[in-house]
Amino acid sequence: MNVSTRVDLALLGIRGRPPLRRTAGAGPSDDGHLVIDGINAAIPRNPKSPFVFDGSQVLRDGVDTGLDVQVIERPKFYDLATDDGVPYEKLAKLHGRNVLATTVVQTCVRYAPDQRCRFCSIEESLRAGATTAVKRPAELAEVAEAAVRLDGVTQMVMTTGTSAGADRGARHLGRCVRAVKAAVPWLPIQVQCEPPEDLAVITELREAGADSIGIHVESLDDDVRRRWMPGKASVSLTQYRQAWSEAVRVFGRNQVSTYLLVGLGEDPDELIAGAAELIEMGVYPFVVPFRPHPGSLAVDVDRAHAPDAAVVEKVSREVAAALQMAGMAGADQRAGCASCGACGVLQNLGG
Ligand code: SF4
Repeated sequence: MNVSTRVDLALLGIRGRPPLRRTAGAGPSDDGHLVIDGINAAIPRNPKSPFVFDGSQVLRDGVDTGLDVQVIERPKFYDLATDDGVPYEKLAKLHGRNVLATTVVQTCVRYAPDQRCRFCSIEESLRAGATTAVKRPAELAEVAEAAVRLDGVTQMVMTTGTSAGADRGARHLGRCVRAVKAAVPWLPIQVQCEPPEDLAVITELREAGADSIGIHVESLDDDVRRRWMPGKASVSLTQYRQAWSEAVRVFGRNQVSTYLLVGLGEDPDELIAGAAELIEMGVYPFVVPFRPHPGSLAVDVDRAHAPDAAVVEKVSREVAAALQMAGMAGADQRAGCASCGACGVLQNLGG
């Protein structure tokens, strides 16, 4: 595929309505999901984009882009509900063609206006009634079993808003993992949380059955961190490095990942150098273009823009090359965002 076209799609988004879509939530959101050239693609929805999804193809300014597009249909498990009447769709979503994703706690201790991450809208979907505040382990087990049986889901991602406790939400993640593994033992699961204060919690997550872990820093530049995520920046990069290192010891090389967002103002060469250090540690740097989406302060207050396409392509190419040199592929992660790949373009470049 033409990687530049894939980068343009990631930044400019698409018009049209892919059957599988998501709105506000944690991390990147407000997108449509397709499989492009065999790889999951989560494309922001933008009514002003030159790209349009016409129901089967992606056109640019009315001309077929030539991309090989597979449509992902709305999954069957979305039509089910728990005995209490909670629609499964409010408990977990299909991401890409094969990933079941849930936010086990939809609130975040850092969500005060002067503390919250400016790119995140975790509590907006809760306010809109699109999800529930806390997912119960038994509910997630029920949804996971159905999603595997009816829709062929092959992996699960569990993220969480940060709690006030020293575990930062990890213990509830562990309870959810145990319940899902009891229902579908063969389903690989990635957990995502901030570095817990007590690093022994990382072993607890592995013992609960988690297969991989994401500890997401988003930027390795402290100025950027203070500006974009003042609450989260109170956790030092030293604490992140200690947590990654312990996670690699517990989960193994390339079963630990972190998001690095391109477009927050970090120097691209420093970002690439930081990614190389992570790779050296055995941590997969999931490079993702910053995506401005409604409900986030970046859009509602700052009027922030998507990053420059040339920068996204350069950073992605160089990080993908470093991953290849190290023999680390996103697809080799047992579960998680790096394995899914839809929110970035690293997999399109062999990373
Ligand atoms: S990369 Fe992560 S957040 Fe993006 S679609 Fe895949 S699982 Fe969801």
